Amino acid sequence: MSSENQLSLFDNSNFNQTELIPTDAKIPIAQDTYPSMMELAEHCNNCHRCQLGDNRQNAVVGRGNLQASIMIIGEAPGQNEDETGLPFVGRAGQLLEKILASVKLDSEKDVYIANINKCRPPENRNPTAEEIKACKPYLLEQIRLVNPKIILLTGATALKGLLAEKRGITKIRGQWIQWQERLCMPIFHPSFLLRNPSREVGSPKWLMWQDIQAVRSKFDEIQNN
Ligand code: URA
Repeated sequence: MSSENQLSLFDNSNFNQTELIPTDAKIPIAQDTYPSMMELAEHCNNCHRCQLGDNRQNAVVGRGNLQASIMIIGEAPGQNEDETGLPFVGRAGQLLEKILASVKLDSEKDVYIANINKCRPPENRNPTAEEIKACKPYLLEQIRLVNPKIILLTGATALKGLLAEKRGITKIRGQWIQWQERLCMPIFHPSFLLRNPSREVGSPKWLMWQDIQAVRSKFDEIQNN
C-alpha cells in the first residue's frame, strides 16, 4: 500500500490530518497520536511500516484489561496469534496463563498482554532490528494508554526491544528495572520454558516460579498503596 493510500485511511477518522499519521518506518509516530486502543488497532491492521504487514492475516495488538496494573510484553505473533488476532493463544500462551494462575493473577482482569511486533514474522523467526524499530511507536502508545505500573518483558527480544538493554535475559531476569516511572521485570519467555521442562531447583521453570511470586508481591504492594 502506498504512503498516500495509508494516509487516506484516516480521512474519515477523528485524527488531525495536519499531524500526518506516519505510514513509513522512517517517519516517527508522535506520542499521544492515538486517543484509544481502538484507533491504534485500526492503524496496526492497515500498517505497512515494515514488510511484516505484507503477509499478516491479523495484526495482533493486545488482549486483557486496558487499565491493568501489569502489562506483559512478548516478542511477536505466531501462527495461532496471526489467525486469531490475539496474543499468546498458542502453547506458549497456555503456559503463560498457568504461570499467572499459579499466583492467582487473572489474565483478563489483572494484566494486559501485547507484543514487541504486531505482525507475524515468516516461519516465526525473530523480528529484525528494523522491524522492531518500525513497530515500537505502537508499543509505546499502548504503554501510555494502559499506563501499567509493572511491565513484564518476556524473553530477550522484549527486553532489548523496549529497554535497549545489553545485558542478557539470563543475567537480569527477576530484577526490577525502573523505566519511565514504571517497574519492569525481565522474565523468561514461556516458549523457552516449554523447551526446558525441568522443575529442579535452579532450572528456568523454578526461576520463573521465584519471579512470578516477586511480581505478585509487588502487585499486592501497589494495590495496597
Ligand atoms: N505468542 C505471542 O503473542 N507472543 C510471543 O512472544 C509468543 C507467542
